[in-house]
Amino acid sequence: MRLTAEETARAADFFTQAIAKLAKRPVRLMEVCGTHTVSIFRNGIRQLLPPTVELVSGPGCPVCVTPNEYLDTAIAYSGREDTILATFGDMLKVPGSQSTLMAEKTQGADIRIVYSPLESLTMARENPEKAVIFLAVGFETTAPTAAATILQAEQQGLDNFFVLSAHKLVPPALRTILAAPDIRVDGFLLPGHTAAISGFAPYQFVVSEYQVPAVITGFEALDILQAIYMLLEQIAAGKAELANQYRRVVKPAGNEAAWNILQQVYQPAAAIWRGFGEIADSGLALRPEYSAFDAKLRLPLAAVVTREPAGCRCGEVLCGRIRPEDCPHFGCGCTPEHPVGACMVSVEGACAAWYKYGQGR
Ligand code: SF4
Repeated sequence: MRLTAEETARAADFFTQAIAKLAKRPVRLMEVCGTHTVSIFRNGIRQLLPPTVELVSGPGCPVCVTPNEYLDTAIAYSGREDTILATFGDMLKVPGSQSTLMAEKTQGADIRIVYSPLESLTMARENPEKAVIFLAVGFETTAPTAAATILQAEQQGLDNFFVLSAHKLVPPALRTILAAPDIRVDGFLLPGHTAAISGFAPYQFVVSEYQVPAVITGFEALDILQAIYMLLEQIAAGKAELANQYRRVVKPAGNEAAWNILQQVYQPAAAIWRGFGEIADSGLALRPEYSAFDAKLRLPLAAVVTREPAGCRCGEVLCGRIRPEDCPHFGCGCTPEHPVGACMVSVEGACAAWYKYGQGR
């Protein structure tokens, strides 16, 4: 049921006042997902909160947490005459160690933007003499579609379609944050779209092992205000429960069909996250049955030399250690037009959101 503008304003007013009443002591809440970060800024939610409630961005921007090593590998593949790279557009401007996919494309590399991984299969069929590599970046939300694409490639007998997987699972990164003695988080706004696929179970440890309140949250302004209110209610009552604000979309068992297809094709593997380093079982690697589609195995490259941009503090932003404006490059050396780090490139990047909306505090 959609609310009228008047009903929405009344509900926002209710939650804002209720939050103000509950926010007796300083709390630090992490919005895990980049889509939440953007919605918080776009809707001016920080301005509605009392100064005792601090919102800090987390590791939920898939482009941002993808390390330079992955970009450098993709760029190395793009230099091969016999290769077409298929990628979502948000990867193009992300800086690698020496270059970007955009710069390589401008210089003639065959890099094509797709809106669905399935488009790469068409490319593979139309270009049988080329290797088509899909850059598979994203969380639980996008991995099932990539998995379905691999199953289709198998059905179609395509032997020139490959995946360079940087898919990641959100919960292991949260565990890393919770285990870090220098990062304080009093409550999590959990990503609604990843929970819609996985269900509640992978997030249960947040409350059972770490006793930190958590609310699975939708993406409208009212969703976020209500979720903050739900977190503050738990904090005030000394509770730590996994609550679901996004009931209209997220079911306790998630989307079993999508989750099953993901698990059929992928298995958990160690993965490197920008800012975190390697996290056990946080990545998705192709199962041995589907290794014929694994670009790294089938199309080996010479060793790729990689380095992180000097002075960029994306890693600390992504862990919630610092705010974007604490980075000395923010707004001077690093802007969306001339980004130094990934967090300033992606539309879901915390640095880009802070820069665009200029409302941080
Ligand atoms: Fe990196 Fe730029 Fe953000 Fe600094 S402002 S952390 S350099 S992306």
